[in-house]
Amino acid sequence: MKIHEYQAKTLLKKYGVPVQDGHAIQEMLYFDSAVDDLKTKGYKQFVVKSQIHAGGRGKGKVYSKQNREELVLENGVKFFGDNVEKAKDYAGKLLGNILVTHQTGPEGKEVRTIFIAEGLDYTKEFYLGILLDRSVSKNVIMASTGGGVEIEKVAEETPEKIIKVWIDPSVGFLPYQARELAFGLGLEGDLQKDFIKFITNLYRAYEDMDASLLEVNPLVITNDNKVVALDAKVTLDDNAMYRHKDYAELRDENEEDELELEASKHNLNYIKLDGNVGCMVNGAGLAMGTMDLIKLAGGSPANFLDVGGTATPETVENGFRIILTDKNVKAILINIFGGIVRCDRVAAGVIQAANNIHIGVPVVVRLQGTNAEEAKKLLDESGLNLIPATTLEEAALKVNEALAS
Ligand code: GDP
Ligand code: MG
Repeated sequence: MKIHEYQAKTLLKKYGVPVQDGHAIQEMLYFDSAVDDLKTKGYKQFVVKSQIHAGGRGKGKVYSKQNREELVLENGVKFFGDNVEKAKDYAGKLLGNILVTHQTGPEGKEVRTIFIAEGLDYTKEFYLGILLDRSVSKNVIMASTGGGVEIEKVAEETPEKIIKVWIDPSVGFLPYQARELAFGLGLEGDLQKDFIKFITNLYRAYEDMDASLLEVNPLVITNDNKVVALDAKVTLDDNAMYRHKDYAELRDENEEDELELEASKHNLNYIKLDGNVGCMVNGAGLAMGTMDLIKLAGGSPANFLDVGGTATPETVENGFRIILTDKNVKAILINIFGGIVRCDRVAAGVIQAANNIHIGVPVVVRLQGTNAEEAKKLLDESGLNLIPATTLEEAALKVNEALAS
């Protein structure tokens, strides 16, 4: 689950990570009181930041929600110094309009929340990222002097500028590793000490929050020599949500893919992809294998859908509905292995779905395992126009044939 920058900063603050103070608002009505409060706290400069679940906001462009052709603003994040009037004018144009960045895709995202924060003057910006390096089963901390720019670009053009330290889970993050990062960024004296404290707290936050990504880009050294997270991007591990009941309220459904959200309500694991073959499979491993074989046969999967180990006729019907909401889907491949779930129940689900919704595209069905015979009989007798397949390879070839015809 992704969260907004302002939420990430609230969490990080609790772990002693220095962040900018600020207020998130959803209506301009609250702009003045947000600024007034920051002024009372002694801040003299302000920055206005759109809150969407995508990066590259600073360089993004804002279009009118009513007229998508009309460019309203050049940036989705802007520093205003002490000019509150300009900040207010900008905030008014930002709220409710559409921000397009290199991460949102051309459709962009509506700015429903803005973060008004203390504006900082700084002399240096760095990149810091913590994530799991799956190839070595360890968390990795990446730091770079190329802050403020896209890390992908740094990685491609000047990979030597990225310093990496891997954390052994059995011993944790060690002081020498913090020093190594500080040296690598060229920090000395008090700054080095502050940075070490910063990264130690940041790593503690990453682990404690069960994050799967924590990115601070940029981390800045302010004019008065403070180490501050100017930006914060956090992804929380959904599998650990049971340990953090309080994180549920951080979820912003507006930011989530509508279909994925709908699927999660039915306990289906659905991820939308770009292809045209809708897939309905039980088990994540089989789903991955099915997608691979579709590709191998020359096709392209429209989604990943794991209906789970206990698929019922209802799950299957909901799966159909979700797959078919994607207009790119031109054929469907059902590949279910009957272990705990019985094939005849899945077949009943297919028949129920076909009776209740207009499917309208060819459907290739492969049901193997428990009660496969009974399932076959049910489907044969249903009079539905389904394309049966026995092996996975055959199913993948048949679905591609169906696409071509
Ligand atoms: P992103 O573009 O989505 O990564 O959003 P960031 O939070 O990184 O902000 C984008 C850019 O806005 C930063 O790289 C800075 O150049 C600028 N910016 C944000 N906050 C401040 C601030 O307090 N002071 C100054 N001078 N610039 C800021
Ligand atoms: Mg940033």
